[in-house]
Amino acid sequence: MRKVSIFGATGSIGQNTVDLIRRAPSAYDVVALSGGSNIAQLAHDAIDLNADVAITAFPDRLDDLRAALAGSDVEAAAGDTALVEAASRPADWVMSAIIGAAGLNPGMTALAQGSTLALANKESLVCAGKLLLATAQEHSARILPVDSEHSAVFQGLVGEDMAAVERIIITASGGAFRDWPLADLTKATVAQASTHPNWDMGQRITIDSASMFNKAMEVIETREFFGVDPDQIEVLVHPESLVHAIVGFNDGALMAHVGAPDMRHAIGYALHWPDRKSLPVERLDLAKIGQLNFRAPEEARYPALRLARDVMARGGLMGAVFNAAKERALDHFIAGHIGFLDMADIVAATMGTLDREPGLIDAAMTLDTVAHVDHLARRATDARVAQHIG
Ligand code: NAD
Ligand code: MG
Repeated sequence: MRKVSIFGATGSIGQNTVDLIRRAPSAYDVVALSGGSNIAQLAHDAIDLNADVAITAFPDRLDDLRAALAGSDVEAAAGDTALVEAASRPADWVMSAIIGAAGLNPGMTALAQGSTLALANKESLVCAGKLLLATAQEHSARILPVDSEHSAVFQGLVGEDMAAVERIIITASGGAFRDWPLADLTKATVAQASTHPNWDMGQRITIDSASMFNKAMEVIETREFFGVDPDQIEVLVHPESLVHAIVGFNDGALMAHVGAPDMRHAIGYALHWPDRKSLPVERLDLAKIGQLNFRAPEEARYPALRLARDVMARGGLMGAVFNAAKERALDHFIAGHIGFLDMADIVAATMGTLDREPGLIDAAMTLDTVAHVDHLARRATDARVAQHIG
């Protein structure tokens, strides 16, 4: 039996992972499941999958979790330290599906004890990619991509020589506002930004799809995962979300990955890698689909894409600034403090402010410097928003 843990088990990726594990219960020995405030779901799945431990991120919910687990032999735990402790328990395969920079510490811990890390939490690669990759290398641990585009690229590279790769194209649906007149974007509401044309995902990543902050993160993620130069990475708007990524080779061949928009494909590929096993996803009927469309992303509609280029050009700890500023700007948009297009302006301003701090961005990357820069970026973003409102 393979020992597995799922961090962020109650979220959208987490629940899809639980679904796959549940279909083959005798194959897996579940070590840890983590969640946040959805205690009922966390306890239900932990009992159902017979996990050793269930952890809520929030210490004030520990009593609720204990009550929900009463009568079972699942251990209850809470808080950041408990998450790291659970990640240090031996496991063969660990799903990193917490949302935001909070996923970094558990992911690093799992790698440090040699687990294969299935990485949905792209934020940890954006804010500390070099550190995560070095930790994996040091402990002979593997990181497998779970983001659909990166899983698609990873699959397109099987048996290929990276020296023959000319470019990597990741696709984007274009999000909720892809066909809106540009002038209307300033008025876009949270509810409007929270509906995705093709994918059923958590609210935060859905809004990040409308702004393409999600794609911006994925461009950086592509650079970290595959070690290509920024100018080898392209973004293509593809409204159908059926082609997830395309690898371009030096003989002109483009290898596209085509599949239904169902995250269980990428999760299942990472779960069974290096094998390919049958998965409960829709089989596409291309004759019925008829056509696939592609277009270049408009710069004015998606300023976040330019910011990703700035982050890669600057290097150092700028990824941590970008991620933290984006997380806070999104919080402020959801809270109604700023408009949809203000998010990119505010993130750009935070990047500029912190870049002017002597030595900050070029400090050596450690968990401490990443956490420090993350903290400063959140504070600078809040200050900027306060100025904006006032
Ligand atoms: P979600 O909001 O649905 O779930 C997030 C999970 O993290 C929940 O279990 C929640 O309880 C937990 N969590 C939230 N805040 C936490 C904190 N501070 N500390 C510890 N745990 C916390 O998110 P999601 O859509 O499943 O996305 C998870 C990750 O996967 C993100 O990094 C996202 O970018 C990535 N991703 C998601 C999709 C998708 O289809 N949803 C696709 C590709 C990549
Ligand atoms: Mg993606």
